Amino acid sequence: MTVKLYPTDELWDLSPPTFSSRSRLFYLEPIGIGTPNVESLTSYVSRLAVVHSVPPGTLLAIEIGLLVKKNYCPNTRSMGAIYGLNSVRALNGIRGNAVGLVQALETLTLRTDLRFLTLLTWAEVFPVLGLLKHKQAWCPLCLEEWLEKKTVIYLPLLWSLNVVKVCPYHHQPLQFQCPHCHASFVPLWRNSQPGYCLKCSGWLGSNSWSPSWDGTTDEFQFHIWVANSLGNLIAQAPSNPFPLPRETIKKALTFFAKKSTNGNLLALGELIGVSQPEITQWYRGKTIPTLDKLVKICYLLNTSVSKFLQIDILPTTISQTSNLSLNSPPKLLTFTSRRTKERIRTLLQSVLNQNEYPFPSVREIARRYHFGLATFYRYAPDLCQAVSTRYRHDKKRIQQEAIQIGCSEVRRLAPELYAQGITPTVKNLASVMTNPETLWYQEVLETLSEVRYSLGELPFKITYGGA
Ligand SMILES: [Zn+2]
Ligand SMILES: [Zn+2]
Repeated sequence: MTVKLYPTDELWDLSPPTFSSRSRLFYLEPIGIGTPNVESLTSYVSRLAVVHSVPPGTLLAIEIGLLVKKNYCPNTRSMGAIYGLNSVRALNGIRGNAVGLVQALETLTLRTDLRFLTLLTWAEVFPVLGLLKHKQAWCPLCLEEWLEKKTVIYLPLLWSLNVVKVCPYHHQPLQFQCPHCHASFVPLWRNSQPGYCLKCSGWLGSNSWSPSWDGTTDEFQFHIWVANSLGNLIAQAPSNPFPLPRETIKKALTFFAKKSTNGNLLALGELIGVSQPEITQWYRGKTIPTLDKLVKICYLLNTSVSKFLQIDILPTTISQTSNLSLNSPPKLLTFTSRRTKERIRTLLQSVLNQNEYPFPSVREIARRYHFGLATFYRYAPDLCQAVSTRYRHDKKRIQQEAIQIGCSEVRRLAPELYAQGITPTVKNLASVMTNPETLWYQEVLETLSEVRYSLGELPFKITYGGA
């Protein structure tokens, strides 16, 4: 029998179909890439473990250990065999451990965007020192809000930065201490689960938690600014070069020296409160500013951290400038600028002759008399320096006094609360203290920890803060 083939008939394609390669682990989408709320890598590991119905320790021991550690024995089902307590704290950061974990997870999930869950974009421009908190921090109000909205509970990368002390949405300090068992803990361990205490598994969210905190203080406003500024920086990671080159710092210093101090780098240093050797080292690329210094500099220069590190803002003429004068001669002054200079010097001299307490900052004086800060530093760097010294001295004195007041209030009130059957937590103390804003200070929190420990109310001493 013969078969007639008609050209319009569909023919079966008998060649084997091609399949795209399968990922070993679920292709779990990270939360918030390209936004200030992007998830941290440690949070992603915890969530990835949940979708595979295993604890993070098991996921790391069975699947990831082999990829990140040489001579790793896969039967060792222990977190400690892969990451010690110190290295697990650095997994959202900029060093080899973060790189290794990103690569391992991308191999296993076939994702290509997991580096944005770390600070690796800024590995060349941020030093490790003081970059990340040692303990997991969280905003109880954010967690509670997500629970109520039934959205995914996770831990944003922003909360892991050491300089970020407050939630930019709720304007409340981030928490380090479980409200149930008072423990602090690392961001990832065997049984980590975002939103729950590692020690007692208690829920960390709360919608009633609101310490008395004076939101109008300069320090508080500064912390809100820091959280927002770094949130914007994190959001821009996917559109930045990867990694951002170290040269960025030099270019930014060049740009701002040209803009603010006539190209004089040392005058820029005075303007932003950085010593001459330090700013020279940064300019030469020998060292780089720590993140806490960088945010203060950006705050003083009235620019965001992302703009400071955004090399694209630099005009070609400036970015092509190879060298700044480290000691540029003063330019000849016009008649108008001579008068301005005389007025500024007279103003500063008269403020220095008065005994104002607390002594105002150069910025405050400039604001009072409607001058730009850079103009002050340009015409009277020596007097600005003298003002700065007295301002810092008074500020330190005020701070020491506040710490003493806070410590003595804590020593007096914590045992009183405890005697009445009320746990002397930060929140409970804040509601009865005359100066609750002093609970900001590390020394006051440490005093509280000591008092609670001596009352036998805490089973172990707590380390506050992340530094
Ligand atoms: Zn919040
Ligand atoms: Zn707990």
